[in-house]
Amino acid sequence: MFDLTGLVAFITGGASGIGRATATRFASAGATVIVADVADPAAVAAEIGGHAAVVDVADPDAVAEALDQTVTQHGSLDILVNNAGVLGPGTGLLADSLEATQQVLDINLMGVLHGIKAAAPLMRPGATIVNTASMAGVVGFPGLSAYGMSKWGVVGLTKHAAVELGPKGIRVNAVCPTGVDTPLAGDQTDDHWAVRSQALANQHVDRLAFADEVAAAIHFLASPEAAMINGHALPVDGGMAAGMSVQLLEAATGQRISDGEAYG
Ligand code: NAD
Repeated sequence: MFDLTGLVAFITGGASGIGRATATRFASAGATVIVADVADPAAVAAEIGGHAAVVDVADPDAVAEALDQTVTQHGSLDILVNNAGVLGPGTGLLADSLEATQQVLDINLMGVLHGIKAAAPLMRPGATIVNTASMAGVVGFPGLSAYGMSKWGVVGLTKHAAVELGPKGIRVNAVCPTGVDTPLAGDQTDDHWAVRSQALANQHVDRLAFADEVAAAIHFLASPEAAMINGHALPVDGGMAAGMSVQLLEAATGQRISDGEAYG
């Protein structure tokens, strides 16, 4: 199921967390995988029998060169996973410095744009792009405005790219994970702990997601089985989005409904 035999996949942020889990899955499904990361991707590439590319996604020339080389060396570019990202300052809208906010946008949002702009001209009909957005790109979280701006941007860019590239036969989708048990959310420092506690307070599966659960969604969206799915931003959120609607309804009506009691 979700066979990727013969396909060439380029995964940014592939050295850790969700990217690493995705690279592992793709390799098991038969893809030729290029593990791209600003940190050393060689270890993961060796582990999965793939190839490494040291790339800073905030650098458009570096991204373009790495994608060009992928086609030169491996014959095609069938799947691009724009997954590299950072959490950023997390000190709040008023306290976050402009420099730190810009850096988050440069990596999380512009990095995705650089990937799409460089990849699309190299791709053939049937190729696909999956972007790692976040539930912070679907709703708001206190303290995460820089990150949230970048991820709302990724969701919007996904939809615009889908309608522009759809006629060329290229699908573009996104995943929107809740808190995931990776180094990005795993440090229980104050800033990072806030991500965990906000996620767990709002979702309906009482744990963080595992990286491989997000990778599974990326795998499906990237596979030929998802050929009819384009421009979608798929929550991998343990019901967070659904639960937030319940909470809004509770706030609006002043009645508890989340424990299953009838309301009205
Ligand atoms: P992670 O820190 O384990 O992995 C992120 C990877 O991106 C790292 O290997 C890092 O070196 C790489 N990276 C960072 N900046 C880069 C750059 N400029 N160029 C190239 N690579 C760069 O974190 P993760 O949780 O696996 O994050 C993957 C994606 O998932 C990110 O886009 C993140 O925003 C998103 N996400 C994570 C969570 C979570 O709670 N962990 C939730 C929702 C979305």
